[in-house]
Amino acid sequence: MLALLKNDYTNQLQYETVEVPSLIVGRTMSLSNNNANGSHQHNNGSNKDDVFAYLSSLSPRKSYKSLHDYLISKGEEIEQDQPFYVYDLADVLWKAQLWEERFSNVFPYYAVKANADPILVRLMVLLGYGFDCSTEGEIRLVLKHGADPKKIIFAHTIKTHKALIYASSVGVDLMTFDSKEELLKISEDFPTARLVLRLKSESNQTFYNLSKKFGCELSEVEDLLSQAKALNLNVVGISFHVGALCEDPKTYTSTIGKSRLAFDIAEKLGFKFTIMDIGAGFFGSTEREGFFYKLTQEIRTSLKNNFPDGDVEFIAEPGCYCVASAVSLVTTILGKKSISTNEKSDIKREYFLNDSFYGSFFEHHDIYHVKPVPVLTASEMKQRPKYKSRVWGQTCCSEDIVEDECELPEMEDGELIRWLNMGAYGKGVSSTFTIVPSPADRYVFIQNSK
Ligand SMILES: *Cc1c(COP(=O)(O)O)cnc(C)c1O
Repeated sequence: MLALLKNDYTNQLQYETVEVPSLIVGRTMSLSNNNANGSHQHNNGSNKDDVFAYLSSLSPRKSYKSLHDYLISKGEEIEQDQPFYVYDLADVLWKAQLWEERFSNVFPYYAVKANADPILVRLMVLLGYGFDCSTEGEIRLVLKHGADPKKIIFAHTIKTHKALIYASSVGVDLMTFDSKEELLKISEDFPTARLVLRLKSESNQTFYNLSKKFGCELSEVEDLLSQAKALNLNVVGISFHVGALCEDPKTYTSTIGKSRLAFDIAEKLGFKFTIMDIGAGFFGSTEREGFFYKLTQEIRTSLKNNFPDGDVEFIAEPGCYCVASAVSLVTTILGKKSISTNEKSDIKREYFLNDSFYGSFFEHHDIYHVKPVPVLTASEMKQRPKYKSRVWGQTCCSEDIVEDECELPEMEDGELIRWLNMGAYGKGVSSTFTIVPSPADRYVFIQNSK
């Protein structure tokens, strides 16, 4: 099988474009110029011309009416054993615009660990995002793609000496801590750094509860800040992370309240805090955009009530939010089994995909709203009988289930299934267990991707 996608194997980047959505062109770029407190210098060089010049430089151009049409027209050109990611860059712009609309006074530092794809990172640079990096490797990546070191937060509370020395050498001086031991390390390697103390959140989250691993209790704040004072270190604010995909606005508002108390403790000790970092935990699927409206409303109110004086800069570290809905994974059916009778279940079709739980589906996909969409025309969808189906990953492991039970139209070998909302974390944590190809990357810019 053929040509076009094969180019991807040699890492050539391609994208297809259709008309640029006017909605996005008009509004998005204000992201880089806006700040309610005026306390943050944003990158004025970033504007929409840069973004589109950049997208154009990824040529060749071609037009399709929709991502679906694009996939159908590409169907016969795909190597059967290699899945591929489709990055809809328009969706990234849409999320930037939505952020600006809802959260114009909270400056976003994109959390690179959610998806470290270099094209996404470059696009985020052009859109004026800051970056949350958790390792030296992530800092190197974003700097390589043009990020401003002053708009990077090194947001892992445990850093190596080597990484601290590197951060110091490139001027990435904003970083988090939550222990005395880390303060000692920083005082040795980077004594002029600007430090943000990470608090545990009030989360009762069971899914990726980050407060289990990171952050200090409010009762420890005074002690830690006194230690910082004794070491002559510069602590400038508070951060927290409520945990992944947080359903409860109160988790944010109560932790913002607790942060306010930490600000007061700091003031008594003679610090002048200027940064309130509300972390992340925002959903990134299209399905949960409505919830983002409600959540941002509550957070904005809480920030305003707790920090009314305008002398504190609000920042956040969105990862999942920025990329989840922008990326879908396109898989091919490698084989199927028709089941006529089965006493234990009413599954009638089993499909085997060219990807697996150990590959792109390692992340708990229910909560990310990962959804299978058969790449079929409308009339094919209508004509084919539908069956309760199970979708297996390709490895020979029996736990390798991609979708335990779902309704699908009758599908055949070589046909495609597209999985929505696959942009967050999946790529980073995947393995090539059983020696199979990793997904290729394709970049598209789709009109009306919403
Ligand atoms: C993972 C992580 C993020 C991103 O979290 P999301 O919920 O995916 O947006 C932000 N900040 C820190 C410190 C993180 O560890």
